Amino acid sequence: MSAIADNLQAVQARISDAAVLAGRSPESIRLLAVSKTWPLASVLEAADAGQRAFGENYVQEGIDKVAATAGRNLEWHFIGPLQSNKSRAVAEHFDWVHSIERLKIAERLSVQRPANLPPLQVCIQVNVSGEASKSGCAPDEAQALCQAVAALPGLQLRGLMAIPEPTDDLAAQRAQFHHVWEIYDHIRAAGIPLDTLSMGMSHDLEAAVAEGATIVRIGTAIFGERNYR
Ligand SMILES: *Cc1c(COP(=O)(O)O)cnc(C)c1O
Repeated sequence: MSAIADNLQAVQARISDAAVLAGRSPESIRLLAVSKTWPLASVLEAADAGQRAFGENYVQEGIDKVAATAGRNLEWHFIGPLQSNKSRAVAEHFDWVHSIERLKIAERLSVQRPANLPPLQVCIQVNVSGEASKSGCAPDEAQALCQAVAALPGLQLRGLMAIPEPTDDLAAQRAQFHHVWEIYDHIRAAGIPLDTLSMGMSHDLEAAVAEGATIVRIGTAIFGERNYR
């Protein structure tokens, strides 16, 4: 087995163990393989091992991989910061966007989504680490943004995404993920149908699964340490 196939199996085992510990079904959690900075060969190796959903942060790099894997039935998720001038490319080539943080971008994506494709599946990114991060809407803006995005015809609102402040302390990780879950629960209680909570990365997926994650976004634990040029 290739190293990537081994790593995928190990990550799936971590997800399953965390799910069982939390009394959840392992099938209720999807693994998104974050392939940013890794070459096409790494994506193909993961795809050959059965991995279907991939995440990318950079528009051009992502589009190149989407084009190179056309016909392989992979699912592509855009998870990075998105600027207005790149929204059309994302609307045309990706299946999901996790990083919606303002209505203006969502409106552009909705208009730019080609009519022959299914609606773009989207999550609202919520900033739960305050000053430490500039990405994501404020927690108290999330519900209104969800309401507005849910009405856009080119998009299908699925849920929330968050990147808490990194910490090695399991209790602190869980507290931050629990806060995201509370926002999610509150929005659902208001009658907005959400089914996706995108949270948890290589170092904190167990805490995220314990607090209700339905998609974990894993890069390093699958592909190895990234080298940024
Ligand atoms: C890079 C990245 C990940 C993956 O992080 P790892 O720590 O390598 O698992 C997940 N989500 C987002 C938004 C990222 O940018």
